[in-house]
Amino acid sequence: MLQSVGTLTRGMSQPAEAALEGVAYVDGQYLSASEASVPLLDWGVTRSDAFQETVSFWGGYFFRLDEHVERFYRSAARLRMSPPDENLLRSVIHELVKRGRYTSAYVQVHMTRGVPPVGSRDVRACANRFRAYAVPYVWIAKPEHQSRGLKVHLSERCRIPGVSVDPQVKHYHWLDFQMGLLDAYDRDCDTVLLRDIDGNVAEGPGFNAFVVERGKLTTPPAIHVLDGMTRRTIMDLAGILGIAVEERPVTVEEFVAAEEAFLTSTAGGVLPIVAVDGQEIGTGTVGKMTDILHNEYWTRRSQGWLGTPLRP
Ligand code: PLP
Repeated sequence: MLQSVGTLTRGMSQPAEAALEGVAYVDGQYLSASEASVPLLDWGVTRSDAFQETVSFWGGYFFRLDEHVERFYRSAARLRMSPPDENLLRSVIHELVKRGRYTSAYVQVHMTRGVPPVGSRDVRACANRFRAYAVPYVWIAKPEHQSRGLKVHLSERCRIPGVSVDPQVKHYHWLDFQMGLLDAYDRDCDTVLLRDIDGNVAEGPGFNAFVVERGKLTTPPAIHVLDGMTRRTIMDLAGILGIAVEERPVTVEEFVAAEEAFLTSTAGGVLPIVAVDGQEIGTGTVGKMTDILHNEYWTRRSQGWLGTPLRP
């Protein structure tokens, strides 16, 4: 199972020799990520008034970079923030990876509302701030853990609904996820999936979810969840491979009874699920369709599929 993940990722999950632990861009300067900071009075800190975009870099290529850039500007527009111009955004993304000497990396660009005038609550009165960092590629679950599959806690917590905060903004309202993760660890699970406001399966901390039933893929619609870039990629792969895929609400009962289930994220690709709250999914091992999609994803990525090469 998942034969190719070991081969394709060997030597890439760790920084290349002499690669840096983390590089950041703050106020026009590049510095070590461990020295980079956000001011205490920034509403990004005190109000979670912030958003981010995470791009992965693998084998010399950024994945779906144009779409990440587009999603960054979509988030900025929806939060009514003033983003940096696109040349700066793109050059920072490239420069961070170059300076870190990474062969694979996780690059996060983010914006905060900024520091308000003392005593002001006027959200319009801040200069919005753009910062970014790159670190070695981040895995929600490492390849060896993926081969065993993940144990998931399906929480009764509701992901912050779209009527409160727009789910198509890649925002930092993560207390529901953070508390859900603690619940999951208490239950000897690896991670958590939250429900949507109607009680159906939604998303988890940094990932979307899919189930496989009778050879068909189903994923919750991007109404209550982020339209993840990896989710898009799996839908593209399904099209290429002739696998049917449907976007519709997935009930908890359906999820638990599925033949296979997996999670998708920029931080790890296709992450197989083998159990939900102690109940096995399918055979309790990595499913066949999951295996195919996982291997297809990493094979194509290692060949630069949908990739933008690092500028010389
Ligand atoms: N859902 C949420 C809430 C996320 O934060 C993320 C990624 O961080 C995802 C889904 C998966 O999106 P992507 O595939 O673009 O990493």
